[in-house]
Amino acid sequence: MKVAVIGAGVSGLSVAFYLKRGGAEVKVFEREETPGGKMKTLHEDGYIIETGPNGFLDGKPYTLNLVKELGIESKLYRSSDRARKRFIYTNGRLVRLPENPIAFLGSYLLSWKGKLRLIGEFLVPPKKDDKDESLSEFARRRIGVEALEKLLDPMVAGIFAGDPDRLSLKAAFPAIYYLERQYGGLIKGLIAKMKEAKKSGKKSSGPAGPGGVLTSFKGGVKDLIDSLSEFLQDSIETGVEILSLDRMEEGWKIKYKKGNKVYEKTFEAVVLSTPAYVTAEFLKDLDPELSNLLSEIEYSPISVVALGFEKRGLGHDLDGFGFLIPRSEKRKILGVLWDSSVFPNRAPEGKALIRVMIGGARQPELALLPDEELIDIALEELKRIMKIRHYPEKIKVFKHKKGIPHYTVGHAERVERIFKLSGKYPGLYLCNNAYTGVGVNDCTKAAEEVAKEILNG
Ligand SMILES: Cc1cc2nc3c(=O)[nH]c(=O)nc-3n(C[C@H](O)[C@H](O)[C@H](O)COP(=O)(O)OP(=O)(O)OC[C@H]3O[C@@H](n4cnc5c(N)ncnc54)[C@H](O)[C@@H]3O)c2cc1C
Repeated sequence: MKVAVIGAGVSGLSVAFYLKRGGAEVKVFEREETPGGKMKTLHEDGYIIETGPNGFLDGKPYTLNLVKELGIESKLYRSSDRARKRFIYTNGRLVRLPENPIAFLGSYLLSWKGKLRLIGEFLVPPKKDDKDESLSEFARRRIGVEALEKLLDPMVAGIFAGDPDRLSLKAAFPAIYYLERQYGGLIKGLIAKMKEAKKSGKKSSGPAGPGGVLTSFKGGVKDLIDSLSEFLQDSIETGVEILSLDRMEEGWKIKYKKGNKVYEKTFEAVVLSTPAYVTAEFLKDLDPELSNLLSEIEYSPISVVALGFEKRGLGHDLDGFGFLIPRSEKRKILGVLWDSSVFPNRAPEGKALIRVMIGGARQPELALLPDEELIDIALEELKRIMKIRHYPEKIKVFKHKKGIPHYTVGHAERVERIFKLSGKYPGLYLCNNAYTGVGVNDCTKAAEEVAKEILNG
């Protein structure tokens, strides 16, 4: 069976891997010169710098399974124990995110009123209807405004670079949504899950998802992309411009340009692993309704400013994962990752690598400022928050104009409709982080499922 995959991010490459391994003849078309999409790593002067994700959680099996199938377990790199210490910037200082109920009670993060309101979640009756709501609406209803501002808002910034007033609870945090639906509340659900886990001898997970340990690769996330690319070898065409995608009786005809030459090839199936707004363009003539729904999926812009410092006299011990900032603090950055504390080989001996996140749905106008202004913002905020006054010896800026899909209220229904409409066309498949999860694990999971569906006819 001949299958085309358009887009060589982790979704497209993983789909192609599973297809090829299952015996299909695959061709991957990528617009850029190098595969990886948002997942790229730079190796420079002893620094290992991620342009986007710094890993995946090992609490879900999907990426780990892929790693096993590729035979690259020896390249896995678990985050250090220091990464378990996470901070929130609140009232002018960094406060450690409590890891358990006892630490929560003693934490400065919430006032006593805020803590009692959060604990009172146990008594809040479950929502009667199944209508989608925003994360803010859910939080006001169940855990109170303070927990929304100090806990959920920064978490949303960390995962989606998103806006809790517009993000859909059901689509963005399905684990939280199902705790209420299934158990009547978050605390009730967590207690029930702990009991279930105890019975089965497994570890239970937190409310925001299955949790687990942040895991990457010794050479950065690029190791996974390189390994997938090596397996696919010349099945990948990079630097390609797709000119048209047409549905024919015998399958799907792709007309594309590489260099000065134009080619046409026909495939029995095509997987669109491009971002939703690109997929919308491909399908504009075929199905305007489907195309419109795809273009309704919004994206948040985000920039990453990576800074390499001499550790000596830095003014901060970087003992932890980094910190996130609630919107109410009115700072110009979303948060900071202390990369070389999480994965020590990310900086040379005696140096430290940190990455500052700017923009998101909260301040989209900041994400796309000129590099010099982004660097100034990053340094200014580090000085203020972490008392870092050194000038970095290494600076890199990565801009993601359409960085992370923003699953707004109604997303789940929109995606259901998208899949229903795309399902009308035999041999057409969609696989990308725009639909059912933005994490690397969500992408590898969807890829395996789509490949299975194609291979099983
Ligand atoms: C700053 C940042 C930090 C993140 N951190 C984490 C993290 O720590 N953990 C985590 O799990 N997730 C994280 N994510 C999310 C994760 O990186 C993404 O969800 C994932 O990499 C998306 O992969 P994808 O293949 O679905 O999409 P993409 O990576 O966007 O791939 C789409 C591909 O399609 C190609 N393409 C586009 N147009 C065309 C065209 N016309 N023709 C051919 N090809 C085309 C693109 O060039 C790209 O290669 C982060 C994302 C960002 C932006």
